[in-house]
Amino acid sequence: MSPSVSRAEKPLPVVGLIRGDGVGPEIAQATVRAVEAAGAHLRWEPLLAGAEAAEKRGDPLPVETLARLRQLPAALKGPLTTPVGGGWRSVNVTLRQELELYANVRPARSFAGVPAPVGGVDMVIVRENTEDLYAGIEHYVDLRRSAAEAVMIVTRAGSERVLRYAFAYARRHSRKRVTLLHKANILKKTSGLFLEVGREVAARHPEIEFRDMIIDAACMNMVMRPGQFDVVVTTNLFGDIVSDLAAGLVGGLGLAPGANIGERGALFEAVHGTAPDIAGRGIANPTALMLAASMMLAHLRQGAAARRLDGAVRAVLAEGRTVTPDLGGSATTEEYADAVIRRMAKGRRRGA
Ligand code: ATP
Repeated sequence: MSPSVSRAEKPLPVVGLIRGDGVGPEIAQATVRAVEAAGAHLRWEPLLAGAEAAEKRGDPLPVETLARLRQLPAALKGPLTTPVGGGWRSVNVTLRQELELYANVRPARSFAGVPAPVGGVDMVIVRENTEDLYAGIEHYVDLRRSAAEAVMIVTRAGSERVLRYAFAYARRHSRKRVTLLHKANILKKTSGLFLEVGREVAARHPEIEFRDMIIDAACMNMVMRPGQFDVVVTTNLFGDIVSDLAAGLVGGLGLAPGANIGERGALFEAVHGTAPDIAGRGIANPTALMLAASMMLAHLRQGAAARRLDGAVRAVLAEGRTVTPDLGGSATTEEYADAVIRRMAKGRRRGA
């Protein structure tokens, strides 16, 4: 049976599309066009969230959006505004909690043509997304606020599921090594438990090399010898910091995609914010959202379309002729998307 016949018989997976606030709608439009040109097999379902939802429904995360996200296998999300000092609670954080998106996945791979402090980076940070100091249990010890304390929670179950995901990710993407980052020499119970569970999960994956490294040494090594890191797995706070460090190693947050993965759903997004200073001008860089869409296609087992999109984005950046102003060019969002699409068409004509 030819691949096209078997493909045609499969129902189209439906994926949610939250366009987002600020530059969100601009980069989402460019990304949707690029995903379609990559030959993806899916149907988009627009979902309302963020400032537009707050205005139309009085709720930045309407119940029907949340209900749909619980049913769909994946969704692509543009950046969403979180009002500072009042307004509504972060929709991003609410989504992670409500959908139990326990693994945050942030790849960092060097881009040819993009200035960066080091080369040869190709790592994926898998961060536990629900526990640790971010469980939100903190208080002042007295009314005078003379001190404050927070509780760091690490559970066996929470550690096990993210560690299992990290190893499964490594196997599925043919990656050879998992490095667990911790501080078990000082935080003997919390970080120690994560390391203990990591060793147990690693023992079930003899085909993947396992290493552990103390977080501070890991930060230095990531800058000085980044090539030794492949899949990296760690707890919430360390992962938050180290994933931005990794993004900095390959050219900054503007190019960084991310995914939040749960048992039932998965949300793919650009790491950057809504960029209100350039919103509406048609000059935002859609690279991060396009790379997030490529991650989503890989997650949906559409590896060929995922590689095509990722490859075309990288080729256009490497060429450097059609890039947006944040990368020193003068292309608009749509012109950049056109260049990515042309690149994919060229690849297809060559049989790629
Ligand atoms: P938010 O409150 O949503 O986090 P912010 O302005 O604090 O917004 P970012 O949106 O991440 O944070 O923007 C930081 C800087 O990076 C801004 O100058 C913005 O214009 C720039 N920037 C962010 N995303 C992009 C993008 N996709 N293309 C071009 N520039 C961007």
